[in-house]
Amino acid sequence: MHKDIATPLRTKEILGKYGFSFKKSLGQNFLIDPNILRNITEHAGLTKDTAAIEIGPGIGALTEHLARTSGKVVAFEIDQRLIPILGDTLSPYDNVKIINKDVLEADVESIIQEEFEGYDDIMVVANLPYYVTTPIILKLLMERLPIRGICVMLQKEVGDRISAKPGTKEYGSLSIAIQYYTEAEMVMTVPKTVFMPQPNVDSAVIRLTKREQPPVEVIDEDFFFTVTRSSFAQRRKTILNNLTSQLPHGKEKKELILEALSKAGVEPSRRGETLSIQEFGALSDALYPHFN
Ligand code: SAM
Repeated sequence: MHKDIATPLRTKEILGKYGFSFKKSLGQNFLIDPNILRNITEHAGLTKDTAAIEIGPGIGALTEHLARTSGKVVAFEIDQRLIPILGDTLSPYDNVKIINKDVLEADVESIIQEEFEGYDDIMVVANLPYYVTTPIILKLLMERLPIRGICVMLQKEVGDRISAKPGTKEYGSLSIAIQYYTEAEMVMTVPKTVFMPQPNVDSAVIRLTKREQPPVEVIDEDFFFTVTRSSFAQRRKTILNNLTSQLPHGKEKKELILEALSKAGVEPSRRGETLSIQEFGALSDALYPHFN
């Protein structure tokens, strides 16, 4: 077994050797605690039959743990300066491929097809760059990639919103979007001290397991998401007020919206944060004929 990259000493040594300076704009907070990395890979449920996708390998702290515990790793790194460093730090591992690309612009599906032939179990595992946490997770889910799930470090506040239940102040359109595709669990909160440099926010690890079936069948998924986003446009407003102000020609269609609310069994005076995914599904289907 090689010396872990993720210790304060080794990380400083690597950064010094290459004269690397952190770019805050790229969310560069590297992990320097091997225990946290072991925890992440354990929660991801990896075996040698798993292929892992990593976003943002940095200097390879998590990547080497993935290389040890899974069959193959493909990692997307946007920062060109890190590519030669990764070539050095990950040289003991022959099952890692680094792709120098912004993951948001990558054709992840084609890469899965090319790189993971023969693997039925694919997991995304990462310590995400915090400035793009939500777009990355939504891209991976909305592209309906053949993955088992996503186990990632993120800002605790975003993790709270993703895993929130109805009736809580964290519950919103992000909770619904992600819980529509996955079962979301916060598996661990993480102190700032395990990062270099330390981030300004608290962190957590979340595990998203893709659902076989969505929790509610709807006529039109895009419209369902439009209805949920509209319902949370102003949290203090009632669902009726949000829908009339947000849906196209909503004010003129107020009577039809009231009719749809009644059909879905939702009181117009309720707030979006009190509706379950099933209620949003019923509401979206009742509104659908009036807006399409
Ligand atoms: N995995 C390393 C670790 O845990 O120490 C580094 C994690 S650091 C929080 C985030 C990494 O994502 C950085 O290496 C950064 O350069 C990279 N990154 C930022 N934006 C990216 C993007 N859009 N696509 C791919 N990588 C990105």
